[in-house]
Amino acid sequence: MNQNYINGAWLDGAAASANINPSDTADVIGHYAQADAAQAALAIEAAAAAAPAWGLSNPQTRADALDRIGSEILARKEELGTLLAREEGKTRPEGIGEAGRAGAIFKYFAQECLRLRGDKLPSVRPGIEVEVTREPVGVVGVIAPWNFPLAIPAWKIAPALAYGNTVVFKPAELVPGSAWALAEIVSRAGLPGGVFNLAMGRGAVVGQAMLDDRRVNAISFTGSAATGARVAQAAIGRHAKVQIEMGGKNPLVVLNDADLAQAVQCALQGAFFSTGQRCTASSRVIVEKGIYPAFAAALKDALAALTVDDALRAGTDIGPVVDAAQLEQDLRYIAIGRDEGATLAWGGRRLQREKEGYYLEPALFTDCHNDMRISREEIFGPVASLIPADGYEHALALANDTEFGLSSGICTSSLKHATHFKRHAQAGMVMVNAPTAGVDYHVPFGGRKASSYGAREQGAYAAEFFTTVKTAYCAA
Ligand code: NAD
Repeated sequence: MNQNYINGAWLDGAAASANINPSDTADVIGHYAQADAAQAALAIEAAAAAAPAWGLSNPQTRADALDRIGSEILARKEELGTLLAREEGKTRPEGIGEAGRAGAIFKYFAQECLRLRGDKLPSVRPGIEVEVTREPVGVVGVIAPWNFPLAIPAWKIAPALAYGNTVVFKPAELVPGSAWALAEIVSRAGLPGGVFNLAMGRGAVVGQAMLDDRRVNAISFTGSAATGARVAQAAIGRHAKVQIEMGGKNPLVVLNDADLAQAVQCALQGAFFSTGQRCTASSRVIVEKGIYPAFAAALKDALAALTVDDALRAGTDIGPVVDAAQLEQDLRYIAIGRDEGATLAWGGRRLQREKEGYYLEPALFTDCHNDMRISREEIFGPVASLIPADGYEHALALANDTEFGLSSGICTSSLKHATHFKRHAQAGMVMVNAPTAGVDYHVPFGGRKASSYGAREQGAYAAEFFTTVKTAYCAA
């Protein structure tokens, strides 16, 4: 059994759970420890005990440890990416890409350890000096979703450690394999016991223990809007720092003057790759009427050419849905779309492949309205709505008419419209002639409205969440 890692030791959990391959449900990847509330408390206790010394550690020590972790992830990215694809269902090249990104994130934050800046300012009072510095927050609880099992934990754990915090990491139930592999690498990086702890287990048990425990000073959460709201309430109720990254209903606007082939590729990649299981997926494609017929036909042809199969098979474009519950949700929304009067122009059927798995044909709805449920609610599967628009202003209004605000894209050859869209899209990230999904690792990631709450993740902006500011006055 793959154990939890607490206070520098590997420990059995109160129970164990099987990790199943969604491409082949007969394939059990391994058994993973499940912490109970008492073991979660042990992990928190270890992190709290290690926090004071780690918070004062030499930044070179932290940089070296993070660099070692990043180097090992990069050296093993094919193996780690294959494991990720096997347990999550994204294709092997996508899994390897994600592993590479996780390695790069650790290397990036290794350098950030040495770049923590402060300010020295003149005081408005004579004879006084003012200094503004950043200090670690303390114990950070990392609660992660299943759809990026390496990259999201990396972009939370790496800055937490870089800025001198200790960590309790609770991965999502569906992807313990990648989390355990990452923890095993971290366990050999030379960190003192208790600085990094892995507590695998159920959200309602381990996650909840982290929300309730006053020794956890900050919670960095990514997941669904429903859980995010709970996390935020619990954290704010006891004055813990909190950042929550949640869902999206990301629009891709296609104007009449777009390059048709480029726009089709943006929609195809953004909406359907990684089985549509991305918070930045373009689940609404808003298309100006002049290009609508040609665009819909070309996107349908492109979908027909995709191969849906085993995530580890060479040539697979789209792997399976992550599990039975998500597949059921996707099929339910496909039925809702039909009932709402949208035209199912392509796909939407469950597929059988050589091995038993959760295969779904990507689904394209045409003739949609923005007020349909399939255009408003996050489905989190390979399902997209095509929504016609009368012109640029109408398309922009439709793009912004959503409770979410993570990523927003436009395909156009007009500098005027691209510039206006960049300024007026109500989203944390804007893409021009690029898919709504797919971002760099060294710049801020996050959204607005119901998609995100709290400080941005990634890049130098991560310091905002993972440190706390102190203003010191000193009379000469
Ligand atoms: P989820 O909310 O079901 O679970 C997320 C995490 O929260 C898991 O680790 C889970 O165990 C834990 N959890 C569940 N109940 C809890 C509780 N009571 N207390 C504390 N923790 C608890 O989400 P998911 O299904 O794993 O992930 C899919 C969602 O994540 C989608 O909505 C997607 O849009 C979102 N997501 C957002 C981003 C982003 O950056 N905005 C990125 C990726 C995924």
